[in-house]
Amino acid sequence: MTTLRLVLGDQLNASHPWFRQPDDGCVVVMMEIRSETDYVVHHAQKVLAIFAAMRRFAEALQAAGHRVHYLRIGDSENRQGFAANLQWLAAHYQATRFERMEADEWRVERLLDEASARLGLPSTVVDAAHFLCERGELAQAFSERVPRLEYFYRDMRRRHGLLLDDHQKPVGGRWNFDADNRARWPGEPPTPDWPWAPTDVSALWQEIVAAGVRTLGEPGADALAWPLTRSQARAGLQVFIKQALPHFGRFQDAMSTREPLLFHSGLSFALNTKMLHPQEVIDAALEAFEAGAVDIAACEGFVRQILGWREYVRGVYWSRMPDYAQTNALQARRPLPRWYWTGETHMACLRHAIGQSLRLAYAHHIQRLMITGNFALLAGCDPDAVDAWYLGIYIDAFEWVEMPNTRGMSQYADGGLVASKPYAASASYIKRQSDYCKGCRYAATRRHGDDACPFNALYWDFMLRHEADFASNPRMAMPYRAWKRMDEPERTATLEHAHRLLERLDTL
Ligand SMILES: Cc1cc2nc3c(=O)[nH]c(=O)nc-3n(C[C@H](O)[C@H](O)[C@H](O)COP(=O)(O)OP(=O)(O)OC[C@H]3O[C@@H](n4cnc5c(N)ncnc54)[C@H](O)[C@@H]3O)c2cc1C
Ligand code: SF4
Repeated sequence: MTTLRLVLGDQLNASHPWFRQPDDGCVVVMMEIRSETDYVVHHAQKVLAIFAAMRRFAEALQAAGHRVHYLRIGDSENRQGFAANLQWLAAHYQATRFERMEADEWRVERLLDEASARLGLPSTVVDAAHFLCERGELAQAFSERVPRLEYFYRDMRRRHGLLLDDHQKPVGGRWNFDADNRARWPGEPPTPDWPWAPTDVSALWQEIVAAGVRTLGEPGADALAWPLTRSQARAGLQVFIKQALPHFGRFQDAMSTREPLLFHSGLSFALNTKMLHPQEVIDAALEAFEAGAVDIAACEGFVRQILGWREYVRGVYWSRMPDYAQTNALQARRPLPRWYWTGETHMACLRHAIGQSLRLAYAHHIQRLMITGNFALLAGCDPDAVDAWYLGIYIDAFEWVEMPNTRGMSQYADGGLVASKPYAASASYIKRQSDYCKGCRYAATRRHGDDACPFNALYWDFMLRHEADFASNPRMAMPYRAWKRMDEPERTATLEHAHRLLERLDTL
């Protein structure tokens, strides 16, 4: 009587009930397969980090006495797909039962349902024991309509009893300290060093290349600086709490050419692969607050990302898939400019944000939202293409979290389910929040003319193109009033400039 227990690359949760004690009747199966490397072109570091972390996880399970069957990408018996591998393994072990954890992605859940049906064995799907809101609870909270993040988040704070005083009121007198969190980073205070020492994974890279996996970005195979084990992830959490969290809130929206992380945690890869549990990350932040090491704005700002946004986007995803993947409320159809894959553009902000993403497989939230996302939104790029780019390029990109952020928050393709207004901005926002505009070939203050910043004309063209969609939104009233105050020749020149830009996006 043997049970096969499947563990996916984003299920590296050492505290899962399956692993409390070794069970000779169970074989844990893990596989590096082409169906997972090829459904989109991934960043080389994403493939490397997931495989390297999987291998270390499998070794740790074996060392703890678990039976593990691990299929490497280049193994001859690897059939490169879930169904074919599971059938072969079931025959090999004469398995009588199949068990798996809930997959986080719709696509994978469907593949595993099919694989399980083909196996024809009694099977069970168990919770992955990771999120703070179970799938059933999410289904209830999101069934009729998608709540606004703020109300979902307050409800989560109440349910988990976090940052509340004795009267169940928010500590600090407010639920949200966002308004305090908009400073530009002037170079001070100093940022912490990158939290992880590089690991040499060049042998694994050779296997990936030999298997013919297509990737994008720089592999950094001899210096992969991401956490590959739970203890490395925990060490990164400690660095963040001590050195970055005190400044997290204040500089949350800042961008800099000098620092990729600034005061962000870089923990999304460890969280999304489940090496870290969200509760332990929140607890570490709360402990720092209680010890007086960080103020309420920093602590609340960080807790909101994990307890609020991370759980919330999962609710949007699971309550609205598969239709969500087809949404295109603004009827955006343009391809992404070619320089999204090279970083070779004259626009300094995009050159920097894309260049950094290709180099590190990482950009922080405001770079994703207000630089690369904002440009694609203003230019009217097809959300399918934008989704594929974000899903490929970032080390933390798994569809359940990537898609609502990209289609919803950043591209407004869901018609406002996630964002109450589009995150569209001209150069003045980028200039205020970053040092990108200094030394850019374009002038942030100009709307038209050869050296005018493309964000400006494209912003107004976007606003006018979608006036019927947005003019009645009270949060959008101000820009429409500003447009009406502009004189006619200025308006015409701005829109004509935008149309010329849209014809030559690849050359900007
Ligand atoms: C267009 C776009 C695409 C995105 N794609 C992804 C993605 O594929 N995977 C992903 O994990 N995040 C994604 N995000 C959300 C966010 O940008 C990243 O979680 C964050 O930049 C990761 O870096 P960090 O760990 O340093 O985050 P920090 O700023 O340190 O935040 C701490 C943690 O909070 C969580 N978090 C913060 N913001 C969000 C959010 N909006 N949604 C969900 N969780 C959040 C993450 O787990 C993150 O690790 C995307 C955002 C945008 C605008
Ligand atoms: S001037 Fe425009 S293109 Fe250049 S960095 Fe600033 S916002 Fe970006």
